[in-house]
Amino acid sequence: MSRVARAVAEVKHRGLDAFVISAPSNIRYLSGFSGSSGTIVLRNDAAMLLTDGRYTERARDEIDAADADVEIVRVSGNGRAELLRLLDGASRVGIEADHTSWSAASSLGEDLGGDTLVATTGLVEAFREIKDDVELGLMRRAAEIADRALAQLLTEFAPGVSERDVARRLDALVLDAGADGSGFDTIVGSGPNSSRPHHQSTNRTIEMGDLVIIDFGAECSGYRSDMTRTFVFGEPSARQRELLDAVHDAQAAGVAAVGVGVAAQTIDAACRSHLSAAGLAEWFTHGTGHGVGLDIHEAPSVSAKGTATLAAGHVITVEPGVYLPEFGGVRWEDTVVVTSTGADPLTRSPKQPVII
Ligand code: ZN
Ligand code: ZN
Repeated sequence: MSRVARAVAEVKHRGLDAFVISAPSNIRYLSGFSGSSGTIVLRNDAAMLLTDGRYTERARDEIDAADADVEIVRVSGNGRAELLRLLDGASRVGIEADHTSWSAASSLGEDLGGDTLVATTGLVEAFREIKDDVELGLMRRAAEIADRALAQLLTEFAPGVSERDVARRLDALVLDAGADGSGFDTIVGSGPNSSRPHHQSTNRTIEMGDLVIIDFGAECSGYRSDMTRTFVFGEPSARQRELLDAVHDAQAAGVAAVGVGVAAQTIDAACRSHLSAAGLAEWFTHGTGHGVGLDIHEAPSVSAKGTATLAAGHVITVEPGVYLPEFGGVRWEDTVVVTSTGADPLTRSPKQPVII
């Protein structure tokens, strides 16, 4: 069954006459269209992409390339007139509650009248969780590019450069290696900054003895990779070594726990109990991982609150970390595919933290 056909069937299954899709990643998944302005309407077994004159040619090319059964509706102005025409007579119209602003939902609701709008969640996202071979190929490529870019960076990396210098260089290397872009905003956190899990790279100069966390990825045709490595210039202190080893082993325990039919919570628990035994659990302040795909963070959640059961074709990260304020942090992260035999790592850069 095609992606559009599956989504159309799910719209009916949920008792909706029509479904309005506004999340760019869901639009890209169904149609191949990657422009920043568009809406898909699913109605009467058909999919219509509403977009304006800036994007219609690109939409035609991308829909053809994806071999998607999606009709293009060229809109003028804000497209409201065309949208209302496609929704005419529908009495239950689903909208993506997670991706629609209050003002957009309110004004569409007023135009449609009554209780027509139905807040809907996860309809397309659920299909995106399990990757097909084409998607896995793109993600494997993104991960290989990231591995190559990091290997090159490490031949150049020396104390005296700033976090921003490193981030910019890594972004350039990812592009040079053939990616369409970075997977997300590259994180380079050094010294005390490494204790901030989602640090924004600064002009701080990296010095001998600093812990340096580098968290980055590549993007290929919309699909992303996600990897973190931690480094130290020179011989690590005893405390740094202890953190590096403990998180390394916790991450390995998490990856080893990955398998078909395993609760996502179990992966989190495997990492957490390892860090707990090392007396570091209180410094592990985020969930263990997340799904990756067209979005850098998508379902399933790999955390203590995650309710998913892993299945073949899920792509998740395993990324425990410990963060000691003022001292620094350590995180190891890989993107892995869930397979019948366990975890198949896509990101494969060595975990060798010491740079002499
Ligand atoms: Zn990451
Ligand atoms: Zn991540």
